[in-house]
Amino acid sequence: TAAVRASGLGKHYGSGDARVTALAGVDVRFMRQEFTAIMGPSGSGKSTLMHCVAGLDKADEGSVWIGDTEVTGLSDNALTDLRRDRVGFVFQAFNLLPTLTALENILLPFDLAGRKPDKEVLDRIITTVNLKDRLSHRPSQLSGGQQQRVACARALVTQPDVVFADEPTGALDSTASAELLQFLRQSVDDLGQTVVMVTHEPSAAAFADRVLFLKDGALVDEILAPTADSVL
Ligand code: ADP
Ligand code: ADP
Repeated sequence: TAAVRASGLGKHYGSGDARVTALAGVDVRFMRQEFTAIMGPSGSGKSTLMHCVAGLDKADEGSVWIGDTEVTGLSDNALTDLRRDRVGFVFQAFNLLPTLTALENILLPFDLAGRKPDKEVLDRIITTVNLKDRLSHRPSQLSGGQQQRVACARALVTQPDVVFADEPTGALDSTASAELLQFLRQSVDDLGQTVVMVTHEPSAAAFADRVLFLKDGALVDEILAPTADSVL
């Protein structure tokens, strides 16, 4: 079944001569336990697609479902609740709170939602993310790769319907990138997570189950079982 689906998504900026079509009627499904990479040239609509599907931004046309909830049409408050409870985000900049320890950062979504973590899930995520001896460190005491793994663990810990990652390896060296991507891969394979990642790096896209290519706001190609060479 689809964790997330969108149909006929259209998004435009500006008006008159300055009107830009960022999304030109996109139909897409992200299936449960599937790792999708989205690639395409700069300005092709990758960020806009991800933000509209994730409920960070509103499309002008079309509809989005997260699970069986239709996102389009929700009030701003309902949308905020849905994002908090059912969607995880990872951004290029790690966005950790500097005064909190790694573990406190990971548990932050529960403070915000007033829920309690599932102990078994938390243990599995902490084991998978390979941060056991760093949990009481603050972000400034962690490498970039460790900080981004903390950010990923935080995105996963509520077991959201889907995790969206926008250039998650953009600020990491190749070793840290590989570790992060391995963690995302394991979160799909071992924890049953659904992951959607925007990237311009073929070596990152190769960790995904499939790669979707955007051009001028439209999906123009799909590669299954990608390799770094096949998506170049
Ligand atoms: P990508 O993530 O692939 O680089 P974007 O989704 O950021 O592409 O942008 C798609 C198109 O929409 C581009 O032409 C971009 O200039 C335009 N665009 C994006 N955001 C805005 C905005 N806030 N105002 C005006 N134009 C925008
Ligand atoms: P780009 O992908 O074009 O390089 P950024 O990744 O810097 O741009 O940010 C794109 C948009 O993502 C921002 O306009 C903002 O709305 C959203 N964004 C970035 N970080 C966060 C965050 N931590 N929480 C919510 N929205 C964010």
